[in-house]
Amino acid sequence: MSRDYYEVLGVSRSATEGEIKKAFRKIARELHPDVNGHDPDAEEKFKEAAEAYEVLSDEKQRQTYDQYGPDGLKQGGFSSQAQGFGSIDDLFSAFFGGAAGGAGFGRRGPAPGADIGVGIEIGLEDVLDGVSEEVEFDVVATCEHCHGNGAEPGTPIHTCEKCDGAGELRSVANTAFGQMVRAVPCDVCHGEGKVPETPCGVCSGLGRNHTSKTLKVDVPAGIESGQRIRIAGAGHAGEPGAPSGDLYVEVAVAERENMIRDGKDLITVVPVDATRAMSGDTVEVETLDGEDEIEIPPGTQPGAETALKGKGLPQLGTSKRRGNHRFVFNVVIPANLSEDQLKLVNELDETLTEENRRPKESGLFGRFRRTRA
Ligand SMILES: [Zn+2]
Ligand SMILES: [Zn+2]
Repeated sequence: MSRDYYEVLGVSRSATEGEIKKAFRKIARELHPDVNGHDPDAEEKFKEAAEAYEVLSDEKQRQTYDQYGPDGLKQGGFSSQAQGFGSIDDLFSAFFGGAAGGAGFGRRGPAPGADIGVGIEIGLEDVLDGVSEEVEFDVVATCEHCHGNGAEPGTPIHTCEKCDGAGELRSVANTAFGQMVRAVPCDVCHGEGKVPETPCGVCSGLGRNHTSKTLKVDVPAGIESGQRIRIAGAGHAGEPGAPSGDLYVEVAVAERENMIRDGKDLITVVPVDATRAMSGDTVEVETLDGEDEIEIPPGTQPGAETALKGKGLPQLGTSKRRGNHRFVFNVVIPANLSEDQLKLVNELDETLTEENRRPKESGLFGRFRRTRA
């Protein structure tokens, strides 16, 4: 350690034992993985602080350090226990006491299986009634040959000799922070406390293996892109005695040209020639239920809309009452007119009255003007 111990803890050379302890506790709290999990240097910083505390909290070692510096400590046979700890978790459990040094680490017992995420795509029309889709995914599953116990069927399983069936190996050390019990999973039985005499030939004694699974997933009506369906317990198998993870199926709803989804509603833009917008017309449109017809009323303005009620989509988790399919009219002004056509336009123009020119406001600009009024 190159940095001065007093500097590391931020205390003066005349600091009392209480002040040193207080300073170290403060640093420890700041570097705790639950608070500071994003700092990759936290472990090194904590070890540095722990070593400083280890020395300065011991009257004899502090004296040696004050008189002869770090080299004097080394000559006196000092070696930091803080540096010997395997991980920051061990350090914190030593300092804060107990195996459960804090939420989020120091976990004991078999690990639960991990979650799996898969994606599927469905058509917009599938949103109407929901759909049943097959999904295929790779998963770590309980070995079917040995049913997860890791032994070739019909062969005996013995209690692990190394850990006596406990599944973990314990060691006790006396440190400046108090007596510390370290427990690590047994490396012979991998924490299970039992060892098969003849390991399963399919999974090599692990009790689990990689496999491909196919599952039918019911996609509910009204689902939207990006929503996920959770199938509890269909994820990776956990270690023996621990639950499996979950399967998350993320649904993408395929986009359909000219059918924009707006919650429960669908929106389609319908181009209408200006002449037809003036005179009115009937046009064929496509809906999720097939072909249908909508009226273009005479005098239709740009941006005006009409709707086919109940031809939209249902809402997830509610009744099957559907939204509307809305049609927005995009009035297209004819261009590149011939001389004859221009003559007709001029003739029409000359006949237009004030009432023709100021129709009852509706459509895009009518709405715009109303909101400003
Ligand atoms: Zn097996
Ligand atoms: Zn063992």
